[in-house]
Amino acid sequence: AEAKRRGRHQIVKFDRSLLDRLYAREQFKQDFVAGITSQLRVYYQMQVNQQGQVVGAEALVRWFHPERGMISPAIFIPLAEETGLIVPVGRFVMRTACEQLKLWESDPRRQHLSIAVNVCSHEFNEASYVQQVEAILRETGVRPEKLKLELTESALASDVELVVAKMRELQKFGLRFSLDDFGTGFSSLSYLRLMPLSQLKIDQSFVRDVTTNLNDASIVRTVIALGKSLGLNVIAEGVETSEQKQLLMEYGCDLYQGYFFGRPQAAEEFERAMDERTSNSI
Ligand code: C2E
Ligand code: MG
Ligand code: MG
Ligand code: MG
Repeated sequence: AEAKRRGRHQIVKFDRSLLDRLYAREQFKQDFVAGITSQLRVYYQMQVNQQGQVVGAEALVRWFHPERGMISPAIFIPLAEETGLIVPVGRFVMRTACEQLKLWESDPRRQHLSIAVNVCSHEFNEASYVQQVEAILRETGVRPEKLKLELTESALASDVELVVAKMRELQKFGLRFSLDDFGTGFSSLSYLRLMPLSQLKIDQSFVRDVTTNLNDASIVRTVIALGKSLGLNVIAEGVETSEQKQLLMEYGCDLYQGYFFGRPQAAEEFERAMDERTSNSI
């Protein structure tokens, strides 16, 4: 009886320590993720129409490291993708963007604004991605039409049928899609027909020399014409000068984003810049 009692006791003890260890691992992961997300900030860069009105923003994440200062997403996003940490990072950006949309919805000056969130293939290919996005939208109470997902051609290159099925599901829910960095990836024009896109985003590498390089100019003009003929809205990224904006407008580009209009900035600065722009253009 004594041995039995001890045995049972030992089993209980063993189970406890196993549980403790599992719990510690979960706790470690949660603490680690909480640690990095507390150092992340979401910046917003304005997107303006031909009339110069702000129609929305792209959410761009920034990492404020306690010792190293601000780290560019161009550096840490690829690392986060490799390690799988992109999943909690992406969720954080999406939730923050939706909370921002909710705030803007209650302000008559800003209730028309939409936000575009970047999504990489690792995130999008998660089995529960659709459910995760829908959960965030439900929890924050944001109208899904306000949220745009920016996918790159490489994110779409994996399993086309699966990707399109997921996009359709999210589109039925109300979300919209933009094809980011268009022209830099491996673009099969037949994809464009298959995907439920609402926007093409011309990569900044074509915009940079659009006023001086005839090849870039004809690429940009062709992409704009292609987008329009497919019924898509076309936005140019990396617009830095009024000459670039002027030329893009002549080509029929619908929307513009770039340092000429505003840098990515914290929400309060974004709002101030937006108000300034509004009062100047009247
Ligand atoms: P992207 O989505 O193509 O974003 C455009 C990049 O161009 C941003 O760099 C933006 O700050 C920069 N940019 C905007 N206007 C101008 C301009 O006029 N001139 C120039 N030279 N650059 C301009 P950023 O913020 O460093 O982001 C780099 C990339 O990191 C993004 O490229 C995107 O692929 C990725 N990224 C950023 N935030 C997120 C995120 O929350 N999730 C994911 N998955 N990726 C993100
Ligand atoms: Mg983007
Ligand atoms: Mg881009
Ligand atoms: Mg880019």
